[in-house]
Amino acid sequence: MTLASDPRRRVPRTDAVLAEPQIAIAVAQLGRPLVKEAVGAAQDRVRSGEIAPEAVVDAVLDALPDIAATLRPVLNATGVLLHTNLGRAPLSPAARRALDVAAGTCDVELDLATGGRGPRGRGAVDALLAAVPSAGAAHLVNNGAAALALVATALACGGREIVIARGELVEIGDGFRIPDLLTATGARLREVGTTNRVTPADYADAVGPDTAFVLKVHPSNFVVTGFTRSVEVRELGGLGVPLVVDIGSGLLAPHPLLPDEPDATTALTHGATLVTASGDKLLGGPQAGLLLGAPGDGAELVGRLRRHPLARALRVDKLTLAAMEATLRGPATPVREGLDVAPAALHARASRLAELLRRSGVPAEAVETDATVGGGGAPGVALPSAAVALPESFAAALRAGEPAVLGRLERGRCLLDLRALPAEADDTLAAAVLTCRS
Ligand SMILES: *Cc1c(COP(=O)(O)O)cnc(C)c1O
Repeated sequence: MTLASDPRRRVPRTDAVLAEPQIAIAVAQLGRPLVKEAVGAAQDRVRSGEIAPEAVVDAVLDALPDIAATLRPVLNATGVLLHTNLGRAPLSPAARRALDVAAGTCDVELDLATGGRGPRGRGAVDALLAAVPSAGAAHLVNNGAAALALVATALACGGREIVIARGELVEIGDGFRIPDLLTATGARLREVGTTNRVTPADYADAVGPDTAFVLKVHPSNFVVTGFTRSVEVRELGGLGVPLVVDIGSGLLAPHPLLPDEPDATTALTHGATLVTASGDKLLGGPQAGLLLGAPGDGAELVGRLRRHPLARALRVDKLTLAAMEATLRGPATPVREGLDVAPAALHARASRLAELLRRSGVPAEAVETDATVGGGGAPGVALPSAAVALPESFAAALRAGEPAVLGRLERGRCLLDLRALPAEADDTLAAAVLTCRS
């Protein structure tokens, strides 16, 4: 081979590659630095003899991401409906469309009829009140933790007491603990009961002149069984101080499959002054913190919280407002569908997929599984489900694919559980498995 014919000597110039029409489109979509980086990597592959000089443009296009961010889509085949590492609730198509509108300039704080300033986020709050008629007022903040921080700051900073059961001192995840969050606001905790037992009398004895409020926190990620006693919301009325209930998951009304999961409507009708919750757990919306006040005292409290200086630091953006309103007003969310889907439908999908994969030589088998709600709520509840079982070696290849697929390892197999995946994703899932067959 002469020097001139050695492909490694004919590395296409960067400006020539960037001028190719398809590459120019990519530059317009993704920005020059990202594309230039991919061009550099492709040139290196020519230099090392891995690809031909003529293949540079295709190599660049193959290597470019779909979006100018490092986030990649992942199919949730874990059987965990609300997977924290996958961003909890996937948004409904209705919420995604609302996000698209809100992403531009929109009337988030403008009254188009008068041309004057309008109330920010009114649509989302109205939708929340329509969904929870037993609430008298509502407010949205950044997440569930922010809702608690705002209440604790407004009512208990300066060393006033929050009365809370020892069995409800919850670590949410990633090392964050609710008791630490509460005391970080300057409040003091007045712990009552023991890890396993607490009675209404324990609360009544602890409430005094220093009490800011009584807080009930749903143990949303663990269960205590055995010799236990907890106190219901309805047993805590008449203590003469606000009763704040952190229900965690954002279930707005009872769900038949989750009898032990607290919901906002029941908490309010049973006497809670204020309910706090997350927006991106069982509610199925964007990350947000809900504050729902009972008519009267609770609504007055929500008004105070909305005007508190800290509220500005916890304010949600227009994207959250849009997605939350559409989640509440729109059709059933993917989370709700994943919760309500009949196990028989999941079995039928698993059988069809396994059959299809076997015909292409993949050793796939349809199996019955137990799915879970996840860290977002309903601890200990098994949701009957179905999965496609593959050899364990598929797991890593599936994670590296496009789209990435996250399954669950169980007894030496890689399970692709269908409970958290919409049926529309089945064909994409099958294609992803076939891609990593070898
Ligand atoms: C998840 C959870 C929180 C924290 O909510 P974020 O929205 O994650 O900030 C607080 N309390 C309970 C009971 C929870 O389950």
